[in-house]
Amino acid sequence: TQELADRDADLMSAVNEEFERQEMGIELIASENIVSKAVMQAQGTVLTNKYAEGYPGRRYYGGCEYADKAEGLAIERAKQLFDCEFVNVQPHSGAQANGAVMLALLQPGDTVLGMSLDAGGHLTHGARPALSGKWFNAVQYGVSKEDSRIDYDAVEALAVECQPKMIIAGGSAIPREIDFARFREIADKVGAYLFVDMAHIAGLVATGVHPSPLPYADVVTTTTHKTLRGPRGGMILSNNLDIGKKINSAVFPGLQGGPLMHIIAAKAVAFGEALRPEFKTYIEQVVENAKVLASVMVERGCDIVTGGTDTHLMLVDLRPKGLKGNVVDEALERAGITCNKNGIPFDPEKPMVTSGIRLGTPAGTSRGFGTEEFRLIGNLISDVLDGLAANPEDNSAVEAEVRTQVEGLCKRFPLYK
Ligand code: PLP
Repeated sequence: TQELADRDADLMSAVNEEFERQEMGIELIASENIVSKAVMQAQGTVLTNKYAEGYPGRRYYGGCEYADKAEGLAIERAKQLFDCEFVNVQPHSGAQANGAVMLALLQPGDTVLGMSLDAGGHLTHGARPALSGKWFNAVQYGVSKEDSRIDYDAVEALAVECQPKMIIAGGSAIPREIDFARFREIADKVGAYLFVDMAHIAGLVATGVHPSPLPYADVVTTTTHKTLRGPRGGMILSNNLDIGKKINSAVFPGLQGGPLMHIIAAKAVAFGEALRPEFKTYIEQVVENAKVLASVMVERGCDIVTGGTDTHLMLVDLRPKGLKGNVVDEALERAGITCNKNGIPFDPEKPMVTSGIRLGTPAGTSRGFGTEEFRLIGNLISDVLDGLAANPEDNSAVEAEVRTQVEGLCKRFPLYK
């Protein structure tokens, strides 16, 4: 990075400050991770210079021989990782991948049935401010009032009533295993496509720690930067080659221009890493760490939505402490712990306030934290919460003490050894 530092000191200082922030803070945002140096290096290669509109062997530009090689590696490794027939690695992001699926399989005005944002779904699954909510007749399902889990019978009843052309499963804040076979049954009953967005759980699916949607779904999308631990980006997978053809046309020329070849190269590197046995060990640790963190939060007096987690994330209900998500999110940030405020199912608070926070273990586990460290992290978070509850006006002494402990822990586990 010497050239960057010499040429652009301002930008370099932003990078250095961000490095310091990541190095000396505990990252609990469930959708983030820490990529390997190899994944980062691939993103900084000459592949960023190349225009390669089209697909391997069928490009609109000359000089694509090596771009083809990089994209071919990404495709073949992704097929092996998820045991599927078709992959498109070009979507620039998860939202782009989801947009391409809709462009491929729906017409404006069609009915889509997706999980609502406040129950754990994603904006791109039919939320009102998003393209998916504006251009389609978006009907939304939620979770059961009794246990905050997906109520499959209620989804079925809604599907029968609204006759969607597509049902979307998956989301951003679902702590429990999703029953894809049941979703397939519902989709078959009403003749709908089943589209699974496995963005959050892709690393768990790749290693068999969560059941795969691929045997059931017509089409599956993912981001590549969450539990899968690759560069920021998206991907679309299917076992139906006719759908694959439509997806390819929807991604390019339907929605995007030239693919980001340096990012596709980094996807290939990440998929190669995910195929190794160490990645399965990593994912198993992610899930074990999440269970430990959830249990400490309960021991220290919070509720966990659904009572626990099967995955890498949990939703902490702060109401037993009389606290709000926005206040806690800011207090934890001052103490060196980053997470996000998150609505809980049937949350009485507004989305900018919320009654909960979402916590995830992928990034911490990547830097080497195990159950002992996550037990400590759960206690540090709880110290901040108890301090806030006891003294809402001034929690600065507790936050400073926790920050010292956070920095001590982070020094023992550098991001890049
Ligand atoms: N789908 C799900 C389930 C997500 O959680 C997210 C991001 O948080 C996305 C799609 C969108 O991904 P991106 O931010 O890469 O557009």
